[in-house]
Amino acid sequence: MNEPLKVAIAGGSLGGLMAGLELAAAGAEVRIYERSERVPDDRGAGIIQPVLDLAVPQMVFGRTVLVGDAAFIPRPHTAASTSKAASNATTLGRAITQYAGDIDAALGQWEPTQLALGRQLQAHGQTLGNRSQFGG
Ligand SMILES: Cc1cc2nc3c(=O)[nH]c(=O)nc-3n(C[C@H](O)[C@H](O)[C@H](O)COP(=O)(O)OP(=O)(O)OC[C@H]3O[C@@H](n4cnc5c(N)ncnc54)[C@H](O)[C@@H]3O)c2cc1C
Repeated sequence: MNEPLKVAIAGGSLGGLMAGLELAAAGAEVRIYERSERVPDDRGAGIIQPVLDLAVPQMVFGRTVLVGDAAFIPRPHTAASTSKAASNATTLGRAITQYAGDIDAALGQWEPTQLALGRQLQAHGQTLGNRSQFGG
């Protein structure tokens, strides 16, 4: 019998927890490392929020994968970052299941689709932000 895929996840908020659930459902042995000792009940809450256009050129680095805000932070106008993180996680689980055992093939199929999603949201956020701030 094959050894289960072993996955370590840094960050136990939305992206990390969902990726953990999806990969566990795909048969992986998952450990989640969260630095905060508090229950993450304050996500999305804050008085000051910097508006960033964070976009990474790649989400896969060998066997290391970026999901959620670690990869793309589109402007808040999209109100879609949570569903993006969830999409990163669910599609990752699906790819790992589909390419059973061939992790490189799974990640090779997964990355372009999620880069496209991040880039699309980034562009959409910039359009919405510019329109609401500058009427452009
Ligand atoms: C004010 C505000 C309003 C928002 N409103 C919306 C909205 O309306 N709709 C929407 O879709 N999204 C919204 N968002 C965005 C949404 O909260 C994020 O997209 C979502 O939380 C991303 O999840 P994530 O797991 O990728 O990252 P995060 O939620 O940031 O989680 C990262 C986790 O990693 C942990 N961590 C960090 N470094 C380490 C380390 N070295 N080791 C271990 N753990 C570590 C952190 O403690 C944290 O728990 C909002 C965000 C803010 C700030």
